[in-house]
Parts: sequence; structure tokens; C-alpha cells
Amino acid sequence: MRRYFFNQQVECSIISRSAKTVSGICFFLLLFTGLLPNTVFAGDKQPAGIFCDICGQQISGRYIQTSDGHTYHQTCYDKAEKCPICLMPIISGQKTATLSDGRVCHLSCLDNADFCSLCGEPICRGQVYLKSEKYGETWHESCFNAAPKCGITGRPIAPGVATVKIGKEIFIKAAYDKSRKCLVSGLPVVNHGRYIVNARTGTFVLEKFKDKVHKCYSCGDSLPDGYDVGHGLFLCRYCYENGIKDSLAAQPYLNVIKTFFKEQGVTFPENVKIVILPPGQLIDDNLPALKGHCRNLLRTNTITGGGTLTHTIELLWGLNPDVFLRVATHEFSHAVIAEARFAASGKIYDVPYEEGRCEYTAYTFARSRGLPAYIIDGFSKNQVENYRKEFLHVLAHPPENIKTLLTAIDF
Ligand SMILES: [Zn+2]
Ligand SMILES: [Zn+2]
Ligand SMILES: [Zn+2]
Ligand SMILES: [Zn+2]
Ligand SMILES: [Zn+2]
Repeated sequence: MRRYFFNQQVECSIISRSAKTVSGICFFLLLFTGLLPNTVFAGDKQPAGIFCDICGQQISGRYIQTSDGHTYHQTCYDKAEKCPICLMPIISGQKTATLSDGRVCHLSCLDNADFCSLCGEPICRGQVYLKSEKYGETWHESCFNAAPKCGITGRPIAPGVATVKIGKEIFIKAAYDKSRKCLVSGLPVVNHGRYIVNARTGTFVLEKFKDKVHKCYSCGDSLPDGYDVGHGLFLCRYCYENGIKDSLAAQPYLNVIKTFFKEQGVTFPENVKIVILPPGQLIDDNLPALKGHCRNLLRTNTITGGGTLTHTIELLWGLNPDVFLRVATHEFSHAVIAEARFAASGKIYDVPYEEGRCEYTAYTFARSRGLPAYIIDGFSKNQVENYRKEFLHVLAHPPENIKTLLTAIDF
């Protein structure tokens, strides 16, 4: 009876399941080298003129024939030292090599062997092993199972490979360095659940850590690093370090807004005072405001006296210039509306969609001056509900121009 043993390719059903949990990708082939070499058990019959390749004597009695042309007495075969790689007898005259554990093997077998990247030993016949095309690596199944796996790629980690440990997880350093990481935990965002991308900074926060990040009071970004500036306010590092901190620094930005209003045919009120306050100051409102408007970032107080209006625009320092331009345009719009209303009626009062009008003006400004996408997107996503609602209302009923929008008593 002829029995052939070939290298078999086995569907990686077991490995793929465990590999999936770490990497989400099955990139392994689970392979089996075959139990015995291509052996033909030729039985007890004595064929004429066949010699044993071990003892050199003519075959008599039970013998073994292999598919690569060797014949052996069964007893010689059983007693012979076997090559651990091919499991065939080592015959005198064959070139040999010694493995690190002292076993002797055929030199040709060693030269042609695949080696396990984990233990460094050859893959021997009869062993189950895994092969990865992606990494060009081969692993004994037992070595693969015993090795720690990279939490990003699922690749088994060989001794000596540089790693990064976070909590109970381990990552191959090269893969970790290339990965996108959660700002709070440092965990790579791949394989660690849903995450939030900050479009402006290009940073990531795993959703499970989102409560651990502060929301910047200026730009609204969720960022873990920045400054607690008191009164429960947090400014992200960017806004804090690039924020406008005095009236003088705000002037160039105000000029940009003034130019915009001019282009729109809107008269910019002369009697506007800009005050830049340290964080927290806007929280306490002790001004005799007839019309106070406040997002705790920027506020316009309009007061009457001697038949004219005075607008005090208070700015909380720490607003980054993009956010400053956006909210300052909104605030100036309040002053323009108040002026128009006062000229028509001698009174200061609220009309519907005022926030929407100011938001729409700022939106038009932001688009015309090419402010970043997060600013422009922010108008329709505003966290303050009436701002968002009123802005969307005005957006759905676009005015003829900004001038009619800001000077109409009712809209
Ligand atoms: Zn023999
Ligand atoms: Zn061999
Ligand atoms: Zn191994
Ligand atoms: Zn910020
Ligand atoms: Zn407003």
C-alpha cells in the first residue's frame, strides 16, 4: 500500500479566530508538514537486487522503500539516527549539521528549512506551523500560541523586539509609533473601539475616554491638555497660547471685520468700546446693561445716554484668532442691529432671530475670509440651542444682503 504525505494547507479556522480578536485580520496560513516522509512500506517480500542504504547488505525480510529512492532493512531503519527535520535516517557519507540543541540533521535539510521567527529553530516534518505572507515569517504553532501578540497587528512578538506596554497590552514599538493614538490613554485607536477625530488638530480620543477630556472654552475642541483658567473654564493649549490677550492685539482683527462690514454697505458703529478681560470676568455681570448678550466668551453691552448708544464689547482673552473673528463679527452685528433699531424707534428691544441674524452675518464673514472648516461647520452644530435654531432659520430664509439683514427692524 502506498501512502503519500504531502504538505497540507489547512484552513486557519482556529488561528483566525484568535488572530481576529487582536488584529481583525487573518493573515496567517496554518500549515502541516506531514507526519512522515514519502515512505512506501513495501512489506515482507524480497525483491531481488535491492540493497539497504544503511548497512549496504542485500535486503531480506521486512524492508522500507521511500519515494526518493532509498531502501532500508526495517531494523536498520528503526535503529538509525533520524534527521529531526526530514525524519529520515542519516546515512554515512551524507553531509550533516548540528542544531543548537545538539541534534544532528542533514545539511541539505537545514539549508532548505524554514525557520521559526520566534525560537529560531527549523520547521520540522510533523510540525504544525503558521506562515505569514505579509511579514515573510514562519512560526511553530506552539511558539505562536505561547508568544505575546502585538495589540495593533496581531503579530507574535519575538524576544528582543522593542515594545510599548500600556496597561495589560503590549505593542510592537514600530507599529505603535506609526499608529494613531488616543490622546487620553495613549492606546492605538485601531482595535480599541470607536474614537473621535478632532478635525482641526488631527488628534484622536477613544470614545470610552471622551469624558476625561476637557472641552476648550474657546474653540470647543475636546482636548486633554490645556489650562484650567478658573471659574470652571478650560482653554486648550492652542487657544491659551495663541489667544488674544489684550485690546491692542485685537485691533488688526477688528480691522478685518470693519472692512467686511464696509464691503457689505453696513455702517460700523463708532461708539464701540472693546474691553479685554481675563478669564472668568464675564461670569459676573454687574454692568448696568440694557442689552446684555453673553456667551461667556464675548459680550455686547449696549447702554443709552444723551440720545446715543454706547456698545461695550467685552472679550474674554484666550480666544484663538479664528474664534475671535467669528464671535466678534457676531457681537458687532448686535451693535449694528441695536443702532438701526434705536434710530427707528428710540428704543432697545429684542426681536426674534436676532441671534440667527448675528450668526448668519458671522457665517458669511467666515466663508468670505476663508476661516477653517471647523468654524464654518460650527454654526449649524452650535451647542447653544437657540443659536443653532435661529441660525438655521435665517439660513433657510436668506436675506437679500447683510445690510438688509442687520438693519431690518423685524426679520
Ligand atoms: Zn540494513
Ligand atoms: Zn533530513
Ligand atoms: Zn518556534
Ligand atoms: Zn481651543
Ligand atoms: Zn449674540
